[in-house]
Amino acid sequence: MNLILLGAPGAGKGTLAPYLIEKMGGVPAVSTGNILREAVKNQTPLGVTAKQYMDKGALVPDEVVIGMLQERIAQPDCQRGFILDGFPRTIPQAEALDKVAHIDCALSLEVPDEAIEKRMAGRRVCLKCGATFHIENNPPKTEGVCDVCGDALVIRKDDQLDVVRGRLETYHAQTEPLKDYYGAQGKLKSIDGTQGIEATRELAAKALGL
Ligand code: AMP
Repeated sequence: MNLILLGAPGAGKGTLAPYLIEKMGGVPAVSTGNILREAVKNQTPLGVTAKQYMDKGALVPDEVVIGMLQERIAQPDCQRGFILDGFPRTIPQAEALDKVAHIDCALSLEVPDEAIEKRMAGRRVCLKCGATFHIENNPPKTEGVCDVCGDALVIRKDDQLDVVRGRLETYHAQTEPLKDYYGAQGKLKSIDGTQGIEATRELAAKALGL
């Protein structure tokens, strides 16, 4: 199954992904945000371009991310299926994706903006492996340390409140229309993402028939 995770930044896509990977037999989850953050960290040409947009909470231009994503899903590990987290984020990205892959389902995590703002304040991420935690809802076993790879956890620059508000605006203006796009194709499934990690997993598994 080729699955898209839709939802506002902070809706819980990155937290749900590891559970779905397991349920779907180990297919890769591709997070364009993680690929871009890695490029920024390594100061590659892609990273240098992307950073100026990401720090402001704006979207990286379509022509940059579309090529990057197409390259990633052409890799052999994606041939058994994949989960996309953070792509597509615009209609042109969705159209480009439809040209290179068959999408089975777009699962939308529904969380109101106020709840997102609260969540983002407690979010911590591992820049090395991309795992995400929350100081209250999903704390790491040892404070400040990634459970998965042992690297230090940090607050993302773009998780600061003013940047989060900008990212939510961008989401409503540019990404939310994708619900209609996939709805029109009969591929949209929406679930309530406010009920905690376990409940969200159950709703997702049920919606996807896993
Ligand atoms: P995320 O981790 O998915 O919230 O992404 C973090 C940031 O990376 C976003 O705010 C954008 O600046 C950039 N980004 C990630 N995915 C995309 C995408 N599909 N299109 C454009 N920009 C993206």
